[in-house]
Amino acid sequence: QAKRGGRNRFCFFDPLLQAKLHHRLRLEADLRHALSLGQFQPYFQPQVDSEGHILGAEVLLRWEHPERGMVSPAEFIPLAEENRQIIAIDRWVLETACRQLAAWAAQPETRELTLAVNLSVQHFHEADAVECIRDILVNTGAPPARLKLEVTEGFFLERQDEARQKMLALKALGVTFALDDFGTGFSSLSYLNRLPLDQLKIDQSFVRDVLEDPASASIVASTIGLAKSLDLEVIAEGVETTAQRDWLLSHGCRRFQGYLFGRPQPLGGFETSLRDARRA
Ligand code: C2E
Ligand code: CA
Ligand code: CA
Ligand code: CA
Repeated sequence: QAKRGGRNRFCFFDPLLQAKLHHRLRLEADLRHALSLGQFQPYFQPQVDSEGHILGAEVLLRWEHPERGMVSPAEFIPLAEENRQIIAIDRWVLETACRQLAAWAAQPETRELTLAVNLSVQHFHEADAVECIRDILVNTGAPPARLKLEVTEGFFLERQDEARQKMLALKALGVTFALDDFGTGFSSLSYLNRLPLDQLKIDQSFVRDVLEDPASASIVASTIGLAKSLDLEVIAEGVETTAQRDWLLSHGCRRFQGYLFGRPQPLGGFETSLRDARRA
């Protein structure tokens, strides 16, 4: 209801909206200190081959808020993108991932593992993005070929040439690229053969409905075909059931990520599943 009179004369007072705004402002204020207070943790979700063997993991960020508990990245990443804190956060995730890759590279059983890290478009468009990533690789001693950077269609909506140059520079170091959430953007497919991509990631929204919805099924089948014809690897994310996996396998998809194979978990849990898999 509109409040009349007093100092609030021109304000709409909607308690729900105000509570939401308050919540958001508090979260944004807390986010400013989350990195320095060590409240972020990397989680690792396995990526597997057609036999279920673990090839590596995607690193997914978790924020352990002292009062609110675990805050979802779906909630805080957009906030961090708006106020550009995402750049510092992204770099921290990259450094953490690269330190892990360097540690794994020292052991014969873990040497081949890869890590996929989500890049934000703000970070990538920074003038020093390439130098920054190179420095992190050099300083941690991570093998660049084990690092996969996940980009989205939104990266190429503008400044496509610049983005392409940056990708080429990083590819020259040995880093690989996956196109995340493929099919969910509104971009044309014309950039696909102009950009040095290595992998297409089929979005979980299509995987979820692949058995029930013919449109999703044909999108997934064409994506797999497209990847084949462009000589790109393809991975399906959000695989939750054996029926989905079997459908994907029968349509030529050989790499999977999803709850069926493992939830995102802290390093300890991920390394335990690695050891269990080796014993099995
Ligand atoms: P994304 O990159 O598309 O990551 C996949 C999301 O799907 C993750 O959500 C993951 O936990 C979830 N997921 C995985 N398997 C399944 C499944 O079988 N079923 C269902 N229903 N969901 C599954 P999460 O961890 O909440 O992350 C949300 C988004 O936040 C990510 O989407 C990514 O865009 C962003 N994000 C996460 N970590 C980072 C980061 O370190 N840096 C940046 N820039 N963004 C990040
Ligand atoms: Ca991702
Ligand atoms: Ca995704
Ligand atoms: Ca997504």
